[in-house]
Amino acid sequence: MKVPFIDLAAQYKSIQQEIDVAVAEVMASGQYIKHGYVDSFEKAFAQKLNIANCIGVGNGTDALLLSLKALDIKAGDEVLTPALSWISTAEVISQLGAKPVFVDVDSDYFTIDLYKATKALSKKTKAIIAVHLYGQPCEFHALKLFCEKHDLFLIEDCAQAHFSAFAKSLTGTVGDVAAFSFYPTKNLGAMGDAGCVVSYNHTLADKVRRLANHGGLTKNEHLFEGINSRLDELQAAILSVKLKYIDQWNAARINHAEQYFSELGLVNEIQLPKKPATAKHTYHQFVIKAKQRNALQDYLANKGITTDIHYPLALPFEPAYAYLQHSDKDFPVVYQLQNEILSLPIYPELQHAQISYVCESIKEFYRTI
Ligand SMILES: *Cc1c(COP(=O)(O)O)cnc(C)c1O
Repeated sequence: MKVPFIDLAAQYKSIQQEIDVAVAEVMASGQYIKHGYVDSFEKAFAQKLNIANCIGVGNGTDALLLSLKALDIKAGDEVLTPALSWISTAEVISQLGAKPVFVDVDSDYFTIDLYKATKALSKKTKAIIAVHLYGQPCEFHALKLFCEKHDLFLIEDCAQAHFSAFAKSLTGTVGDVAAFSFYPTKNLGAMGDAGCVVSYNHTLADKVRRLANHGGLTKNEHLFEGINSRLDELQAAILSVKLKYIDQWNAARINHAEQYFSELGLVNEIQLPKKPATAKHTYHQFVIKAKQRNALQDYLANKGITTDIHYPLALPFEPAYAYLQHSDKDFPVVYQLQNEILSLPIYPELQHAQISYVCESIKEFYRTI
């Protein structure tokens, strides 16, 4: 049996007719940027989140960059950001001339550790980027209190958390602004690059919309300099079709997670992901902590099972951030996690028998070593 890590073609096949119709419609329309589909996708996405504003942009990294820029983050500012994330979460801070201040994560939930964040504050700290990593929502109540107490902007990185929730709050609806990615492998993925920014704040949303379009809402308006970062009609058409299925796909991921929980619950050598009782985790990744992680990964690969590591080197230890001169001891949790974490296949189209095969193979590995 083969178990790929993800199978995007299988998802396309499951809704091929609808996608093909939408794509053909865009092609025939002759309007490829900023037209009907972008508009209607932005409205539909905002409505589903129950938030006032959604701005389609080129990708998730730009969504973060534009969010920070709209909040006027600039040289001399510091922004708190988790030590375990995709590099975009740190890159965008430096790109504005500000300083990324890495904070260790909680060892059970993989989200930013607010106790350690308190210790990383300085007079220059302006904002915190909270990443709902792997689909696990951050604890909003504590996060809001932290931001209010220290007068910080809250930016949510929802690239891995489309419609996750903590208590009754959906991810993306609590921060001053939130960034989503629709990179193809994300829970809601386009067929190319795409992203969006959402905010309840109209002024901020307006600023983001202008920043993403050379400083204006129309072609020849340039109130300030911006960039070119737009969601295009083709991606918006594809996303409009896929948005109708996201609840069903997230539910499938949650089902798969439950199967992993029930079949792997007794394996002492691994720790399964934990989540607070009131959290809705959407399992963008199903990340276990495993003894002899590398040997397990090789063993599974030999059995036709592809796994991945998110991420093999935590951000402060990447060559890109060597200039910050961090040592292992600055981030003991992520330092240890990077050698233990393993992401198992968990995409909606995965079959029950494939998950059983993954679980059996993991048990076999620990029996035979
Ligand atoms: C994917 C991702 C991004 C960036 O999204 P792109 O669309 O690839 O630019 C940012 N943050 C996190 C946590 C991500 O996983």
